[in-house]
Amino acid sequence: MNYFSEKDDVPADKIPDGPLAGKWNRYKATCRLVSFNNKKKLDVIVVGTGLAGASAAATLAEGGYNVKSFCFQDSARRAHSVAAQGGVNAAKNYQNDGDSVFRMFYDTIKGGDFRSREANVFRLAECSASLIDQAVAQGVPFGREYGGYIANRSFGGVQVRRTFYARGQTGQQLLLGAYSSMMRQVKAGKVELHTRHEILDIVLIGGKARGVIARNLDTGKIERHAAHAVILATGGFGKIYYLSTLAMGCNGSAIWRAHKKGACMANPSWTQIHPTCLPQSGEHQSKLTLMSESLRNDGRIWVPLKKDEIRPPNEIPEEERDYYLERRYPAFGNLAPRDISSRAAKERIDEGHGIGPLKNGVYLDFKHAINEYGKETIKERYGNLFRMYEKITGVDAYSQPMKISPAAHFSMGGLWVDYELSTSISGLYALGECNFSDHGANRLGANSLLQACIDGYFVLPYTLGNYLADDIKTGPISTDHPAFDKAEVESRELLDRLLSIKGTRTVDEFHKELGKIMTDKCSVSRSEIGLKEAISQIRNLRNSFWNDVRIPGKSDKVNSELEKAGRVADYLELAELMCIDALSRNESCGAHFREEYQTEDGEALRNDQDFAFLSLWEHNGENQPILHKEKLKFKEVKLVSRDYKK
Ligand SMILES: Cc1cc2nc3c(=O)[nH]c(=O)nc-3n(C[C@H](O)[C@H](O)[C@H](O)COP(=O)(O)OP(=O)(O)OC[C@H]3O[C@@H](n4cnc5c(N)ncnc54)[C@H](O)[C@@H]3O)c2cc1C
Repeated sequence: MNYFSEKDDVPADKIPDGPLAGKWNRYKATCRLVSFNNKKKLDVIVVGTGLAGASAAATLAEGGYNVKSFCFQDSARRAHSVAAQGGVNAAKNYQNDGDSVFRMFYDTIKGGDFRSREANVFRLAECSASLIDQAVAQGVPFGREYGGYIANRSFGGVQVRRTFYARGQTGQQLLLGAYSSMMRQVKAGKVELHTRHEILDIVLIGGKARGVIARNLDTGKIERHAAHAVILATGGFGKIYYLSTLAMGCNGSAIWRAHKKGACMANPSWTQIHPTCLPQSGEHQSKLTLMSESLRNDGRIWVPLKKDEIRPPNEIPEEERDYYLERRYPAFGNLAPRDISSRAAKERIDEGHGIGPLKNGVYLDFKHAINEYGKETIKERYGNLFRMYEKITGVDAYSQPMKISPAAHFSMGGLWVDYELSTSISGLYALGECNFSDHGANRLGANSLLQACIDGYFVLPYTLGNYLADDIKTGPISTDHPAFDKAEVESRELLDRLLSIKGTRTVDEFHKELGKIMTDKCSVSRSEIGLKEAISQIRNLRNSFWNDVRIPGKSDKVNSELEKAGRVADYLELAELMCIDALSRNESCGAHFREEYQTEDGEALRNDQDFAFLSLWEHNGENQPILHKEKLKFKEVKLVSRDYKK
């Protein structure tokens, strides 16, 4: 059975010519600009107020554009970026430990298992230093050394210290910076902020994105908003796994609906499974809590050597412990990248060495670090994380190891974008976690806050100008255009259809079942048989959803079940594409570990000959999706197998 068809053409990547190190500067020096006086004639919609959306809205408005900003939360600063704990990377080389823009670029390309574009990744590393300056200027309280210098720590997959942090609240503090800048523009009348609004559809006029259909979540009112360009910064869709580190509201609906309107998705199945989350403890959870990766700087990960061990951890002597990351990956040890660490944990758990009541975890132990540095130092570094752990589990991690386990966390895949962050729909841009752009098949820790900020503060303001330079004479876009009529009717029909089903099962039941299929068959490891089973199960589940879901209430009032239903309906489609994407890639790379393609010692076996490309998926209505392959060109780095052992 065929699950997809293929076509040869690919949208242009728009990567500037010339040496890698000069590409971005050359782009900035030669792109078209919109003058300050013309910017006020142009309207831009920014969906999302996380780090990507808020930084974009603030910067575009500061530059002179009229911005409309949307989020579904009751406050813009509740966007999920607020949850990020560990840190943000930058090649400042404050530690003088060998860091440089090139090394950061190389670590990121290698960390992503050579499945990202050199030019995008280089730009990320190049702009990273400016982000720290920007954030410091906004008052972000980064952790500091005794003498006042900003402190750094390490995250997985690197051997230098380039992670800047604000205790365990880096996302929140960065977001407060971006949010404050955006609110300054709200006050100045340049940003019109619409909280508690959900985007239901993207409106295209003449093939260009010219607006959105939104639902006011407090009144149920359907609204039309027009603009010269639409920016999606709607975050990750890891909640498709139900149990994940993301908040319940995180969703893929805006990007999925954009996909159905013509925007390609890229590598949708590449999902990061984070190794340091709290293990599932029962059937009634809706979320798994992340314990920041920063803990792996000082914590040592181990499992008992004996299978089905029942002794408490402190009674298991050193010689009966398996520090499996240190054993398998001596050069990086506990700081092996996330994909590798998650897989290694799963392997030990599957072999019967898992710990905890459900035997689904591994230990993260601070005993040695406390002996070496003292409890006070460890408290200073991670105090709030230890407090959080104790609040949730009742266990004091200063005296006993934490229990951790892998969980779905981050979407490396997302809307395909070119170098300018434009999707394959003209005038529709995607920033931050909702695009696929910089992380390849595995994101390095602390690179995501960075990417979201770089996209919004530094990249889009140039690339959008290059596009909008053509629109300075267009005049305002009217919401009376028939394209708005059609999109509004379709959005209303979708809501009515959902409400009319009046079945017997709740939205959450469907979401949970979908999450289980995805976790079992399209997560830490995948196989051809499992993926085919998953596709068939997802199709059945989708069918059952459209016949049997029960959504109480109406659409013209607050109705959180209706909100959830729309998101789960989209997840039920996106999940199928994720499985098809995973099935189509007959190699293992990064987080995409196909059981059929592994080395003798269980490491991912890449196939550069046949798969050094990005998978772009085109929606094809009721028919099979169409795969387009963007070949990856490597000029600066040599493709090698990823080795964290030496
Ligand atoms: C627990 C946790 C810890 C993390 N820690 C780190 C870390 O230490 N370092 C790091 O680099 N990364 C970390 N990450 C990842 C990082 O936080 C995210 O990738 C990043 O913050 C995403 O930012 P964003 O702006 O793209 O999206 P988000 O911050 O998720 O914002 C999405 C926005 O889109 C809006 N939205 C979504 N859909 C719609 C819709 N249909 N209509 C209207 N609005 C919509 C939401 O309301 C929200 O405003 C962590 C992630 C999690 C979950």
